[in-house]
Amino acid sequence: MPGFEFFGAEERKEVNDVLETGILMRYGFDGPRKGIWKAQELEKAITEVFGCQYAQLTSSGTAALTTAMAALGIGAGDEVIMPAFTFVASFEAVLSVGAVPVLVDIDETLTLNPAAVRAAITPRTKCIMPVHMCGSMADMDALQVICKEHKLILLEDACQSIGGTYKGKALGTIGDAGTFSFDFVKTITCAEGGVVMTNSEDVYIKSDGYTDHGHDHKGADRGADLHPFLGYNFRISELHAAVGLAQIRKLDTFLAIQRKHHQLLRSYLEQIPGISFRVVPDPAGDSCTFLSWFLPSEAQATAVVAGLKEAGILPGNFYWFANNWHYIRKWDHLKTSASLNRLSATQEEALVALQHTQFSASDAVMSRCISTAISLLWTEEQIREKGEKMVAVIRKVLEA
Ligand SMILES: *Cc1c(COP(=O)(O)O)cnc(C)c1O
Repeated sequence: MPGFEFFGAEERKEVNDVLETGILMRYGFDGPRKGIWKAQELEKAITEVFGCQYAQLTSSGTAALTTAMAALGIGAGDEVIMPAFTFVASFEAVLSVGAVPVLVDIDETLTLNPAAVRAAITPRTKCIMPVHMCGSMADMDALQVICKEHKLILLEDACQSIGGTYKGKALGTIGDAGTFSFDFVKTITCAEGGVVMTNSEDVYIKSDGYTDHGHDHKGADRGADLHPFLGYNFRISELHAAVGLAQIRKLDTFLAIQRKHHQLLRSYLEQIPGISFRVVPDPAGDSCTFLSWFLPSEAQATAVVAGLKEAGILPGNFYWFANNWHYIRKWDHLKTSASLNRLSATQEEALVALQHTQFSASDAVMSRCISTAISLLWTEEQIREKGEKMVAVIRKVLEA
């Protein structure tokens, strides 16, 4: 998963270009910056690598989601359908634009269950936001059909699946807009950063202004820019963009290594009858940042987690069901609407209602699921050793 594992001379060179001029800001200072425009260069590279018309960098993936929602016109009272398994940033962004997160069940794809999405549609639904969790994708064909039928916006949270594809298209470029995160643990990193990708000029222009206080960026003089709408400061710095520029050039290498390591580790777990794997709608497009697998029962999953811990190989194996950041079960701050700023009555009601909402279909999937993070740095020998140890732990539990 993490690009930080391959941090080196290339990143230092790009950052040094910026340090030489001292112009750390992405806009203005045309003379002193001596032709160094790292953020612009990275945006261009993103459009080329992922095949979208426009890319707007932001200060984080969370800021990218917030920006995309604002640019898509999602706001007060609008319902955004999203999965119960995601990172907290997905609902933070929804709440920040005044909209209402509507959490629905996932299935064995570990992403939105299209039938659950259909069942959650109301006259207030404005957007469906699939989250391509752990490197692989949602069933985009099914979701696109639903969006078309109900005239809904499709926004992809592709923050965890940089480099993944669905039927040949890059994840994050299929919907009306999509986002990546470049935080420190993502497939490519800027330390902190994100991007909104879109093929709509309108969404792009709005994203560009929104991330910079509403500036229209039409003239050469920043002070004379007009402000056609309100915005915020979600700008990326030149230093961060410089790191990302070195990283994006390594993406193909990262993906090739991930796929190789993923396949080898999987070959060990495949030996065990009783272990099944995450359903991947387009297996060729899995970015392979994680290998996600299922035990037959919750009790066996918790026993395996304990066994992995005992064997000293728990780090890198994630049991999301008991994790505070990725699954509805532990999001008490969301369910009690523990917001520092007062939310709207509609938002508050929707959040508190989550205390009594059952996610039994998701529980049945997540309580049996373990995701193994794929490291770029493993040697083949280390993978074989890990695979053998995992197999031993799992067999012991399944044969008990
Ligand atoms: C990392 C992540 C984000 C947000 O990214 P930040 O850059 O950390 O703000 C959003 N959604 C998902 C699914 C993520 O994993």
